[in-house]
Amino acid sequence: MNPRMLNFIPLVTNLLISHGSTRNYTEKNLLRCLFFRVFPCASVAIMPVFIKLKQHPARLFFVLLLSLAASACSQHDDDVFHDQFFAFGTLVDLTLYGVEPAAARQASELIEQDFHNTHGNWHAWETSALTRLNTQLASGATVIADPSILPLIKEANRLSQLSSGLFNPVIGELISLWGFHDNPLPVGTVPDADRIRELVAQKPSAADITINGNRINSRNPAVRYDLGAFAKGYAIDRAIVRLRKLGISNAIVNAGGDLRAIGRHGERPWRIGIRHPREVAILARIEIEGDTSVFTSGDYERFFEIDGIRQHHIIDPRSGYPADRTASVTVIYNNAATADAAATALFVAGPDEWPAIARDMGIKLVMLVDTEGVIHMNPAMQSRIQFEPGMDADVQLTEPLS
Ligand code: AMP
Ligand code: MG
Repeated sequence: MNPRMLNFIPLVTNLLISHGSTRNYTEKNLLRCLFFRVFPCASVAIMPVFIKLKQHPARLFFVLLLSLAASACSQHDDDVFHDQFFAFGTLVDLTLYGVEPAAARQASELIEQDFHNTHGNWHAWETSALTRLNTQLASGATVIADPSILPLIKEANRLSQLSSGLFNPVIGELISLWGFHDNPLPVGTVPDADRIRELVAQKPSAADITINGNRINSRNPAVRYDLGAFAKGYAIDRAIVRLRKLGISNAIVNAGGDLRAIGRHGERPWRIGIRHPREVAILARIEIEGDTSVFTSGDYERFFEIDGIRQHHIIDPRSGYPADRTASVTVIYNNAATADAAATALFVAGPDEWPAIARDMGIKLVMLVDTEGVIHMNPAMQSRIQFEPGMDADVQLTEPLS
């Protein structure tokens, strides 16, 4: 089969859904939403659509389309402020409830600025504080860490160790070998097996890093930071801190479908849809309030297919190849950075090992869909989510996590 890039359809991970109605999120649905702009429909109160556009050649067009769609569909709810911008290679979507329009606009501008600054500092392959750190660490030097990345690095290292290295933020060399950091994705080829073996044998790990005050050094020259599995969560946490400082207590910050929500949507909780990893449909929905993050790692986000085998962007650091038994993992946790790292780690852990790693990471709500379509979750997660009709045919419950 021709190794063609198949992942060009913009996809959503988790999405905010309107008053009880499900929304799909293909181009067709966006057009349907635009239709509502011309023929306003009272049933649509909010239609924020969150897509991953990293490698779509016409992504600007889609951003425009989405912005129009979102503004069209949010105009029915005066209490909701809704704004979107492009950062971290994805669409960031901000929803505020009950905030004066001028204050909401100002908050949105500050958050957008924060996202752009952090993206510039944390980029793993375009010149940034992180790439400079990588170059210096590889040379064996002791590096004075840039204050914009030190806390991020420390937290990534801590979570990596808790996950037994399955979330491994220093396998940047492997990720670049697979080409998953390129935008758009190149036509995929599986890298040379010897080179993969070589990189795996070098065992780059967070444990190779020593941090003393603001000084960092690495005893392993193969260490190369790539924070793609974690930085988005960290940036969302910072956005929530910013909103709280501005006195905003009812909000959702959503980056490409991964989100953290605080407060409520007025009289009711926020309603979130979790997408099906193999269908353009919602698998389950969940209501959240207070302070909750919902993160999903999926093999549908960045991938190419060769001879019917999906080669995707979540790499098992033990083999050097994409983790091949999981289709998606959804983690619910209060802090977004931890939820982000955990979703990636549990994806790699797969259907047998995930409960042990979840316990080590302190995660109490998990749903994993394996590549056979079996849905694995703990009882507490089952009591939190509501499946769409017929979607829960094959659920396997584990022991409680706590
Ligand atoms: P996520 O969508 O949060 O699961 O993050 C996936 C991204 O994290 C990939 O595009 C890579 O940049 C990076 N990545 C892939 N595998 C791993 C891993 N095992 N540990 C840490 N980062 C990874
Ligand atoms: Mg992640």
